[in-house]
Amino acid sequence: MSTPLQLANLIDGTSSGPIGNRWLDVFEPATGKVFARCPASAQEDVEKAVEAAQRAAPAWAATTPDDRSRLLQNLASLLEAELESLAELESRDNGKPVSLARRVDIPRAISNLRFFAAAITQWSSEAHASNANTINITLRQPLGVVGCISPWNLPLYLFTWKIAPALAAGNTVVAKPSEITPCTAARLGELSIAAGFPPGVLNIVHGEGPAVGQAMVEHPAIKAVSFTGSTRTGAAIAATAAPMFKKLSLEMGGKNPAIVFEDFEFSEANLATIVRSGFSNQGEICLCGSRLLVQRSIYAKFRQRYLAAVRALRVGDPNDTASDLGALVSKLHFDKVMAAIASAREEGGSIVCGGESLVIDGRCADGWFVAPTVIEGLDSDSRTNQEEIFGPVVSLIPFDDEAEAIRIANDSRYGLAASLWTRDLGRAHRVSARLEFGIVWINCWMSRDLRTPFGGVKQSGIGREGGVDALRFFTEAKNICIESS
Ligand code: NAD
Repeated sequence: MSTPLQLANLIDGTSSGPIGNRWLDVFEPATGKVFARCPASAQEDVEKAVEAAQRAAPAWAATTPDDRSRLLQNLASLLEAELESLAELESRDNGKPVSLARRVDIPRAISNLRFFAAAITQWSSEAHASNANTINITLRQPLGVVGCISPWNLPLYLFTWKIAPALAAGNTVVAKPSEITPCTAARLGELSIAAGFPPGVLNIVHGEGPAVGQAMVEHPAIKAVSFTGSTRTGAAIAATAAPMFKKLSLEMGGKNPAIVFEDFEFSEANLATIVRSGFSNQGEICLCGSRLLVQRSIYAKFRQRYLAAVRALRVGDPNDTASDLGALVSKLHFDKVMAAIASAREEGGSIVCGGESLVIDGRCADGWFVAPTVIEGLDSDSRTNQEEIFGPVVSLIPFDDEAEAIRIANDSRYGLAASLWTRDLGRAHRVSARLEFGIVWINCWMSRDLRTPFGGVKQSGIGREGGVDALRFFTEAKNICIESS
């Protein structure tokens, strides 16, 4: 067996191990074997990182938008030059097909950096002339040191989605990637120094949530926390940070509906998108449509075509470009998804497709693979239709009319994203206005324009990321009123 890849923290421009010399095993989901070791950092490492970020903050805040833009572009170019090896690393770390990491994850990480590099050079604030003698000017100033905490499902994609606007807006950053998938963020840390970021501007501290994440959230010098992850962790973060009056952006779980109306256009492309919306990245995308609502008048026809398409999905070695789905991210998560399928059976659901774990011959024999699973026959208030499973599991739910579709779709404590499929423009407007979700896609899914506000309502989130919303979050608005009479 080859020696595990040894990851390091990035603190004050230097790669280093954790002060306590404790390490975590990082597993390759496709094989179930350890392939890397990541620092199990603690409060003392966070303290060092915050001190470095505080030292770097005044000079970084004084740089011009052009300076910051140039460094972000440099970093994007360095990632681009390593696109292939980063895609392989992401796939190995997360279990996702390498083809997906190559097509989506790494290109999107590069786009995130380039987008905010460009955005900061075009950003402006407002001025309000109150009368002939009085003008109000809004200054948007960096906050100082900010914290960014990201999850395991889209590791580099979501890590860069946070650090790029934070840095572009003139903040210094202490960032924590998921301890389950830390590899590409560690590489980004090394590349950030090559890109020219001064020491202390970007600090990356690896380790477990309750140790590193909690220490970041509790630290009084970290002025804002941008978090993406589960609703449970988000609630714990809010419980600590809200009484400290920190700025918080929380992007959390989802139980998203995809709603198919009877005027749905039955094309291969539309069906493929609906299938992808349930099973892309093994269903481990917060935006995946795990509740598939289908109008009763077309239910039988739709079900037949949909199930045929789901059965055609290939689950296999993530290295194999023919694989549509790879492995689930961890043994713990695999067990959770299998338990959710068992619970669906117990509460009376029929498993009409999949429902079992899979053994992939060869090097992946011990990997954590689950067959794409479709469940039918459960009411909206069942556990299966209420709880986030975050795996390759979709529940089919029939509905009679628009009003019932809206009622079922909104019958959730979550409110991240919905998609609806109809050729009736009036219906598209009516339904999307009444859906209690932060994002609604009509006749598409996961089509993203980085300028748009991204985020959820209810227990899916507070705040919006993307475009000017992210730049606003990472700055403090100050109104300056000038009287010239
Ligand atoms: P998680 O909440 O377990 O972990 C997310 C991050 O928080 C990790 O880096 C973790 O180490 C850290 N963390 C854990 N406990 C912490 C604490 N007490 N204080 C501070 N940080 C802590 O989530 P996960 O399992 O990594 O990710 C899956 C979840 O993320 C799903 O619920 C999914 O819906 C959600 N998600 C949401 C979005 C979105 O944009 N809304 C995007 C991707 C994933």
